[in-house]
Amino acid sequence: MKKLWLNKGKEQSVLRRHPWVFSGAVKKAEEGLQEGDPVEVYSSQNQLLGVGHYQPGNISVRLLEFGPAIFNSEFWLQKINQAYALRKQLGLIGSKDTSAYRLVFAEGDGLPGLIVDVYGSTAVLQAHSLGMWRERQPIAEAVVAVSEGQINAVYDKSGETLPAGQANAGNGYLIGEGGGYDVVMENRVRFKIDWVGGQKTGFFLDQRENRALLGQYAKGKRVLNTFCYTGGFSVYALEAGATEVHSVDVSAKAVALTDENVALNSGAERHQSFAMDTFVFLKEKGADYDIIILDPPAFAKRMNVRHNALMGYKRLNYEAIRHIRPGGLLFTFSCSGVVDKLLFQNTVMAAAIEANRPVKVLHQLSQPADHPYSLYHPEGEYLKGLVLQVL
Ligand code: SAH
Repeated sequence: MKKLWLNKGKEQSVLRRHPWVFSGAVKKAEEGLQEGDPVEVYSSQNQLLGVGHYQPGNISVRLLEFGPAIFNSEFWLQKINQAYALRKQLGLIGSKDTSAYRLVFAEGDGLPGLIVDVYGSTAVLQAHSLGMWRERQPIAEAVVAVSEGQINAVYDKSGETLPAGQANAGNGYLIGEGGGYDVVMENRVRFKIDWVGGQKTGFFLDQRENRALLGQYAKGKRVLNTFCYTGGFSVYALEAGATEVHSVDVSAKAVALTDENVALNSGAERHQSFAMDTFVFLKEKGADYDIIILDPPAFAKRMNVRHNALMGYKRLNYEAIRHIRPGGLLFTFSCSGVVDKLLFQNTVMAAAIEANRPVKVLHQLSQPADHPYSLYHPEGEYLKGLVLQVL
């Protein structure tokens, strides 16, 4: 295995179990070290700090282990088994109410660059680094091996997560086969997941608990679900007895998926969907809702566009706060990693000030436990939400 040495003093963050080695911390690397290679990271004192995957760029190494390691079948088995044991502890495996969960959440499971979502008996894998992608076959085998017979197919969806030209990543089954979709349950609500044609791995699992919370408030209410994608929040609201639910997404394909999921459950006659831009919809038809959900895509993926993202969140929340019925509830989210909880709350406050209405915070929401983050890697906390009552 190739080696890499850090500058004096730069070992501190790694010793504190932060898994990223920034390029500025690197003193030298062994000749021939290439993107995707496993690499041992040493301090300037020649102390082995950990082993990770090398990548040229701002983050040079993402560490999978703080100490010695060899990335072989046994290693993947042990890592995936640990991730599986956590989901079991959480009650997500073998549950009679929920058959979709995240099995591997990158740094949060000590596997930076790897996402594995499970839908029924199929696991969908997305590699975000060349190093992880190269290991997809032993990883897929480990997923099936640890699953106690629950998972029998693994689909690789890395085609869109690896930067083009770095790898010939295409999408396809690594193990087993299937029709490309399945109907799963989330808290007893039914969803069709299309991992071949859908966004990301096919479904946004991170909103499971927040959708359930919406269900608690939705009975007898008129609900607007914006950025609905596959209609997660809409279906929960209908199941809970909302009088009327409107779903909005700019993508016609997403709206069709929402309609399909509504049809799989109850209340289609109380539901209407709109292939429209949320900003336009709120301006034109945003009035008279008791509950509005705002779950936009990440407006900012990087620091240099954060300001524009904040302007976007402000404008969006302003339109919703301005329009919602007195006493109504706003479920508002941000999944931009670079916008932290406090910054998000302050942005929503700025929107409320402009709308000039009294607003109370009822709940502070986050990502569920199958999307864990290391305490030493706060960057892993990305989803934040607020439930607000607007008077
Ligand atoms: N709330 C969803 C996930 C949202 S993903 C869930 O629980 O599953 C973000 C969605 O926003 C995508 O489906 C995307 O098509 C949609 N989108 C992006 N920009 C939009 C816009 N300006 N107006 C409406 N929808 C938009």
